[in-house]
Amino acid sequence: MVQQITPPTQDYIGRFAPSPTGPLHFGSLVAAVGSFLEAKIHHGEWLVRIEDLDPPRTIPGASDKILKALERHQLHWDRSVLYQSQRSHHYQHALEQLHQQGVVFGCHCSRSSLHGKRVYPGYCHHADHPLQQHAVRLRTSPQQVTFKDLWQGDQLWDLGTEIGDFIIRRADGLYAYQLAVVVDDKLQGVTDVVRGCDLLDSTPRQIALQQQLHYPTPRYGHLPIAVTVEGQKLSKQNQAAPLNLDTPIANLTQALTFLGHPPPAVGSIEALWQWAQTRWQSGQVPQQASIPVK
Ligand code: GLU
Repeated sequence: MVQQITPPTQDYIGRFAPSPTGPLHFGSLVAAVGSFLEAKIHHGEWLVRIEDLDPPRTIPGASDKILKALERHQLHWDRSVLYQSQRSHHYQHALEQLHQQGVVFGCHCSRSSLHGKRVYPGYCHHADHPLQQHAVRLRTSPQQVTFKDLWQGDQLWDLGTEIGDFIIRRADGLYAYQLAVVVDDKLQGVTDVVRGCDLLDSTPRQIALQQQLHYPTPRYGHLPIAVTVEGQKLSKQNQAAPLNLDTPIANLTQALTFLGHPPPAVGSIEALWQWAQTRWQSGQVPQQASIPVK
């Protein structure tokens, strides 16, 4: 009889999950470096997932540019890169599971009818609209979600008053980020999510989905995000400058310094990574939501 070999269970699987809405900029390099080093010090795997779920926002060629930029910085990933645009069947399966549990509803509300409302007011809650051709929301219950964030501390979010019923499939049929990320983190066995603090308020939504789908909840760490001196997030949308791929050592030095680990002057990227992988300490990362950069 052939003996079934069970692969060893991984204690740490981290990931970097960029959306290909433009080339890699300093803000995304910080998230890549932080998640990479956390995975390395835990002797874990570091995965890359391209979150190209939203065709209108996807810039042709951006995925390849992002991967090239990671390679240029010697941010080498484990396993093959996963593309969300090829995984709709997994998201559909999860949506069907939620539908069977009776915790989703079709929503007709227009953007203008919800204008100024931070939390969904429940207009379609009991309307029993079909799911097809409409946005689909998860019906949340008035419960509290708590988690301990590696850098942002103890978190307590009230699903009823702070989050409300949120969209998991859009009216145009595209699966929402919240559902896709939860399904992929589960299917990839991700144990630790390290990302920018701008996504902190997504985490209670993701935990609510994990609980509903009976998935394990990973550990979470939200890094400070780079902002302009006016306090605006550096993002592809506000035209943050793409990284200069001719200066990887300078870029990494800046990212490490931002993350509380100013490195010594080194002659090669290898030497820089070697320094970083032996010196990285989670506790040295500033426990702030944002840090201005010039
Ligand atoms: N794709 C998201 C972004 O680029 C990140 C998602 C995540 O790390 O969960 O902002």
